[in-house]
Amino acid sequence: MDTQIGSLERLISSLQQLPGIGRRSAEKLALAVVNMPKQRVADIAESLVRVKNKIHLCRRCFNLSEDEVCSICGDERRNQHLLCVVEQPLDLWNLEKAKVYHGLYFVLHGHLNPLENIGPEELFIPQLLGRVQKEDFEEIILATNPTVEGETTAMYLLREIRRIKPHLKVSRLARGLSMGSDIEYVDPMTLKNAFENRK
Ligand SMILES: [Zn+2]
Repeated sequence: MDTQIGSLERLISSLQQLPGIGRRSAEKLALAVVNMPKQRVADIAESLVRVKNKIHLCRRCFNLSEDEVCSICGDERRNQHLLCVVEQPLDLWNLEKAKVYHGLYFVLHGHLNPLENIGPEELFIPQLLGRVQKEDFEEIILATNPTVEGETTAMYLLREIRRIKPHLKVSRLARGLSMGSDIEYVDPMTLKNAFENRK
């Protein structure tokens, strides 16, 4: 049974497009919007569209950015010889919050998944290998998630990096991260340990 109110139903079904929002949560949010001052609703609507118009991918690391190069790639104080490969911007944000790492990143935007036709091209892996080839890295840290897909992706990257630069140090975050736990949810202390004990 829905609310029988056309515009409200439309908002509820729009909100349900967002991850983690079911019918009940969408109804609560829609009701909150109805009860909000008009200006605040306009601000929210404007920020949604603005984010979509302004944000794109950094051309070096594929992190989200409003500029051509993101603030991390543009920061010369960061160690330019360390590269940490993550699956999602959420992982990068969580690592930054934990303040354990001061090198550069590369964001894959996913993991290899042959069943869903996600191959190296979809994950910017050719661009990653191009950087490994051209730039003077001392270590590549594979910080993909400790899931089956994350491990598969890390193994693939290790093999490809070895082919280009056989002696380059390649590490993986330590096992403090339990199998199946996504880096985006790991607390700072565990992340710090996993980073310091990487091998
Ligand atoms: Zn960047």
